[in-house]
Amino acid sequence: MKFIADHPAPRVIFGIGALDQLADEVKRAGIHRAVVVSTPDRRFVDDVTRRLGGLSSGVYANAVMHVPVETARAARSYVRELGADGCVAIGGGSSIGLAKAIALEIEIPIVAIPTTYAGSEMTSIYGLSDAGVKRTGRDRRVLPRTVLYDPALTLPLPPRVAGPSGMNALAHCVEALYAQDANPVITLVAAEGIRALSRSLPEVVDNAANLEARTDALYGAWLGGTALGAVGMAIHHKLCHTLGGSFNLPHAEVHSVILPHAAAFNREAASAAMRTAAAALGTSDAAGGLFDLAVRIGAPTSLKAIGMPEDGLDRAATLATTNPYYNPRPVDYAGVRTLLDNAFHGRRP
Ligand code: NAD
Repeated sequence: MKFIADHPAPRVIFGIGALDQLADEVKRAGIHRAVVVSTPDRRFVDDVTRRLGGLSSGVYANAVMHVPVETARAARSYVRELGADGCVAIGGGSSIGLAKAIALEIEIPIVAIPTTYAGSEMTSIYGLSDAGVKRTGRDRRVLPRTVLYDPALTLPLPPRVAGPSGMNALAHCVEALYAQDANPVITLVAAEGIRALSRSLPEVVDNAANLEARTDALYGAWLGGTALGAVGMAIHHKLCHTLGGSFNLPHAEVHSVILPHAAAFNREAASAAMRTAAAALGTSDAAGGLFDLAVRIGAPTSLKAIGMPEDGLDRAATLATTNPYYNPRPVDYAGVRTLLDNAFHGRRP
């Protein structure tokens, strides 16, 4: 056995009522003048601001998906004007992504309060989009200092957001199993993430008030984020990145559609990883099991249904095979084009 394990990770406060520790954790992170970062729905902003009291210096509630460079520039100007010395990001990957874009240039700590299952809070990966082209990178300056996971905050997540977001977290776990730099600890983390998400998500979408299931799903999301932050990803994330960035498709929904097909693509080349995934899902085949789970939780299973134009499939396959990258099975145009065709029509792999 040979491996390198290098897992930079934030301090994590997990559990119902974790938000009660916000002010203490913000002080502990050395922040005295926090800017609260959120999406325009401002759903949690008043509560967070009240809890911060004198530790809050302002609110920037213009976060949108994929962090357009203009939004990042405007947010940084606002933070400089305020003289803020830290970000408190509340929301999904969009809010946390904007806080990362701020921290990338103005080196201030982030306290993240995730309210979806996207997992960004656990990673040093940032993304910025410019004229429809998304660029990502890893930089330790953007890794949140502290993450507060409070399952009560996920209670208002509607099934149409919770289902795809859960599939997004599952995708991090599945790809971590066959990552080029996979290691035994992250393999355990990823398998446990798949177990937690696959057992909790059906209940999360069926029974909105079940806080135990919401806690289990958020636990799975933490594991997914941990896996994403610790090891490299492969064809699934590359395809989602291409489809989301170039065809403006919704992030979590793309993950939901592509994941079963990426698992099928790697079925033979990563057979041990796929057996681990299948066992964690409680099925005999990971690809089929992931598709069935998506159907069960009402998450999308076809690219057609989420707005992908059929005449864009050739270009998507070209874009996704232009720059070589690691994947257990070599990535070639014909294989990816077939994968995309199956995903477009929503065929069970
Ligand atoms: P999002 O942050 O845009 O949230 C989706 C929607 O859900 C929004 O309308 C939001 O207001 C709403 N919402 C959030 N929490 C809610 C709650 N508890 N109750 C009710 N509504 C709620 O979407 P997302 O899928 O969380 O994040 C997607 C973005 O994150 C993308 O830009 C993606 O690239 C990025 N991302 C980055 C990483 C990384 O490591 N850098 C990882 C995953 C995702």
